[in-house]
Amino acid sequence: MQLLDGKFASEKIKTEIAAEAADFLAQSGRKPHLVAILVGNDGGSETYVASKMKNCEKVGFKSSLFRYDNSVTEAELLAKIEEINKDADVDGLIVQLPLPKHIDPEKVTETIDYRKDVDGFHPVNLGRMMRNLPCFIPATPYGILLMLKAYNIDTTGKHCVVVGRSNIVGSPMSILMARNANPGNCTVTLTHSKTHNLKEIILQGDIVVAAIGRKNFVTADMVKTGAIIIDVGINRETSTETKSGFKLYGDVDFDNVAPKSSWITPVPGGVGLMTIVGLLKNTLASAKGEIYA
Ligand code: NDP
Repeated sequence: MQLLDGKFASEKIKTEIAAEAADFLAQSGRKPHLVAILVGNDGGSETYVASKMKNCEKVGFKSSLFRYDNSVTEAELLAKIEEINKDADVDGLIVQLPLPKHIDPEKVTETIDYRKDVDGFHPVNLGRMMRNLPCFIPATPYGILLMLKAYNIDTTGKHCVVVGRSNIVGSPMSILMARNANPGNCTVTLTHSKTHNLKEIILQGDIVVAAIGRKNFVTADMVKTGAIIIDVGINRETSTETKSGFKLYGDVDFDNVAPKSSWITPVPGGVGLMTIVGLLKNTLASAKGEIYA
């Protein structure tokens, strides 16, 4: 078993991003700028946004955070997004999910200018990704591709089983792994809660991407020996063992699956760190006009 170490891979790529950001500053006189909007005070969302902002500073980006109470109206939020869309100093805009029930996440996603949609959730970016055109790739799947690349893992011809079909992780991951590219060139099976014989299907996976949201869902009896295991899950549980008062668990039973695998991502320290790298790469590409001039 070898570890796909998100700390190692993310630090290496962030060093490259920082150098490019410095060049961009020297040439343009400004820093790549990411804006985040956070509604409410969900513990997980607070942590993710704080980490995204901190990483921006680390690589020499400017970052701004707009916070709203849970009581913010949908109209107020959409108006703020429109305002940021028009701000020429902003390269990337993300709205941290989940949102309160009275706000339609689809409306929010579609209101963000697709040219600043560095989370890659806008239908224009997803459509362009389908067609293999330049676009912002959703940050988590992008981070997973960067991780596979960092470890020179050849995925060509492999059977990739993706568990979970969300718009932000599972579905785009399945499309990317089937693309004519490396990483990619896989035969892909996309599974979900209605899939029959899930265990038998996961057992066929040379690569298994688990994006379910259930602690330790993928167990050792479900994976074939030598499989590459990508664990996207972040399941937070309160804990008296840690200073923060909570502990993170993946969707994979790491202790028992790791000995059977050839490569595996840990949680924490795996895909989560790479998601931030995906976001930073998209923001830099936006600033440089590499995707949309
Ligand atoms: P969603 O809840 O949107 O999707 C979960 C998917 O898992 C759904 O497609 C669902 O199927 C499927 N599923 C649920 N139960 C089962 C089951 N018993 N058998 C098979 N499939 C099942 O989650 P996300 O994709 O947003 O996130 C998944 C996990 O990844 C979460 O833990 C989340 O916190 C984490 N995450 C981590 C990120 C990172 O940076 N590391 C980034 C984003 C998410 P169905 O569609 O049929 O309901």
